[in-house]
Amino acid sequence: MVKPVILNAAELPGWAHEELHALFTVLDLPKDCADARAFLAQHGPKVRGIALRKTPIDAAFLDALPALEIISSYSAGLDNLDVNAAKARGVSIANTSHILSDDVANAAVGLALAVTRDFVNADAFVRAGRWPQEKEYPLARSLTRMKVGIVGLGTIGSAIALRLAAFGCELAYFGPSRKPVAMPYFDDVAQLARACDMLILTCPLTPATHHLVDAKVIDALGRDGFIVNIARGPVLDERALVEALAADRIAGAALDVFEHEPRVPDALMRDRRVVLTPHLGSGTKETRRRMAEHVVDALARHFDVAGPRDAVHRVAGRGCAVES
Ligand code: NAP
Repeated sequence: MVKPVILNAAELPGWAHEELHALFTVLDLPKDCADARAFLAQHGPKVRGIALRKTPIDAAFLDALPALEIISSYSAGLDNLDVNAAKARGVSIANTSHILSDDVANAAVGLALAVTRDFVNADAFVRAGRWPQEKEYPLARSLTRMKVGIVGLGTIGSAIALRLAAFGCELAYFGPSRKPVAMPYFDDVAQLARACDMLILTCPLTPATHHLVDAKVIDALGRDGFIVNIARGPVLDERALVEALAADRIAGAALDVFEHEPRVPDALMRDRRVVLTPHLGSGTKETRRRMAEHVVDALARHFDVAGPRDAVHRVAGRGCAVES
């Protein structure tokens, strides 16, 4: 049987790359833009699937792939892909939202605890040998009973809500549509902020969510408020956050993602009220392995070729989240 042709733009671990090669004819997309354009002009018409990670894919890119049927993304976020253009061409999209949501939610809760309980500075206090002299560490804030607003109650937002309910938080959410959940819904993010002590950002980055959390929303949250951003950097207006911190108009922030990552503004690096992590939401060995497996498995399922975990899937009934 002729193997389907797959464009590899995913920078997968070696073992997953080998799995792709065993199942498909794999064309590796050149990293250089000019080379990639020439490559697509020559090989594009043969390509039926893409293994994707961060490579930007716009309508022109898709136009070079008239036989494309499926894009299998390593990430949950699809902000590098023109989703509407792909859907308009009838291309299926598989992502790893359902695989990484638990670890990203765990990271969000960890960040929420770290920023409210001041864990990072408390660790530095002990390591600096200050405990014997200064005796007591300053009191922090309690996450229990805190009013927390979730901005984007999707797969990750729901996983965070489940965890924070167990912490005794009072939860509410904002998003484009009301969900069938017993949680107050706000159709305005500033109003949600006004009603909350903490906002946790878990929406996708789209034109509608770029700088969704701006100075107005930060001020609505207020000087005792916290922001946790586990979504994408540009959902939060970073400059507005820096200005709010400088003027004591917000209590603190915990950020896993940044507008120009891996660059982080000096003002945030210097500020002890801010917890910073290097986009590690899904960064566990277990989840990253499953994400890579899913890239391969979604393509194998789509083209109905027996993949390396096919028997496991059939026994366990595990599916791949493929939407069209
Ligand atoms: P998801 O299941 O698609 O959920 C996204 C949610 O955001 C949906 O409830 C959606 O509402 C809502 N939403 C859409 N547009 C919105 C808007 N304009 N304002 C507010 N909410 C909006 O996606 P997910 O798997 O939870 O992932 C969410 C995002 O997290 C990803 O897009 C990615 O950028 C980010 N992420 C970060 C990490 C990390 O390592 N830090 C890891 C994974 C993902 P509807 O259901 O009504 O459309």
